[in-house]
Amino acid sequence: MSNRYDIAVVGSGPAGLSAAINAKIRNKSIILFGNSELSNKILKAPKINNYLGLESITGEHLKDKFLSQLKAMDIEITAERINNIYAMGDYFTLMVNDKTYEASAVIIAAGVEFSKPLEGEMEFLGRGVGYCATCDAPLYKGKTVTVIGYNKEAAEEADFISELVNKVKFVPMFRENFKMNSNVEIVNGVPISIQGTNKVDKLILKDREIITDAVFILKDSVRPEQLVPGLEMDEMHIKVNRKMETNLPGLYAAGDITGKPYQYMKSAGEGQVASLNAVSYLDSLDK
Ligand SMILES: Cc1cc2nc3c(=O)[nH]c(=O)nc-3n(C[C@H](O)[C@H](O)[C@H](O)COP(=O)(O)OP(=O)(O)OC[C@H]3O[C@@H](n4cnc5c(N)ncnc54)[C@H](O)[C@@H]3O)c2cc1C
Repeated sequence: MSNRYDIAVVGSGPAGLSAAINAKIRNKSIILFGNSELSNKILKAPKINNYLGLESITGEHLKDKFLSQLKAMDIEITAERINNIYAMGDYFTLMVNDKTYEASAVIIAAGVEFSKPLEGEMEFLGRGVGYCATCDAPLYKGKTVTVIGYNKEAAEEADFISELVNKVKFVPMFRENFKMNSNVEIVNGVPISIQGTNKVDKLILKDREIITDAVFILKDSVRPEQLVPGLEMDEMHIKVNRKMETNLPGLYAAGDITGKPYQYMKSAGEGQVASLNAVSYLDSLDK
């Protein structure tokens, strides 16, 4: 059996960090999944005027302060992307490709993804459209797959799967000087729709089309209902009560992912509420 943590926190923005810090203070064993640079939404903020006690701080500076607090508290970030979370009764299984982790309680603090699905994305989901290239690439041995990538990890994933498939077309949604394997073709353009018959045949960009057997869309966040089967939503947000409990016992959510206002302190506050209630839940399991 893999080591079972008390609490797994998914997301390293203000909500996830606050959840992790509060759980650690309560002496719970934790694993914090996210990004070593914390969150693009912290990094990209030019100036923050509403963070209590940190007047006119830049996002970069706030990130450094958060990192130094994590270091002082001996909290590490596991830089892995959770693809799925399954409720197993009195614990949860969290999947990172073919690797699994276990935790008695989970706090989802994965932020929100603002962009709408592409035309055809939902229709072809599971029939050529996917959100985890490394999980599904072995199905496309000898074929052409397209990766629409929103971050550096997506570029790495595109490179990695190029060893498993015949050809990868990489459509970057951010600027960078890419150095990729020889069978990765970088295609610049704006994705409009995914088309096919029974399964995906092509990706339509604004000024061209790509013939492809699969389209992987790799963003900073996965839609919560895809992350956790059976999770109750309130339109695009996870439905929670004032304890930050979801409809699944032991599963909590905090931050932008539970709804507006999208703000740092609201996220950090919810992370704390989720964490303290997760601690009470664990204590009640022990009794
Ligand atoms: C440019 C900009 C300026 C802003 N300025 C302000 C401001 O001045 N004041 C203010 O209050 N708010 C501001 N905001 C809003 C603020 O950034 C967000 O409300 C806040 O970051 C939300 O925190 P969060 O923890 O919920 O999520 P996020 O900060 O979005 O963090 C989520 C984290 O989870 C990770 N993640 C997602 N899915 C997974 C997964 N499956 N596995 C592992 N990790 C995952 C992501 O990589 C990310 O690191 C600004 C936002 C932007 C973009």
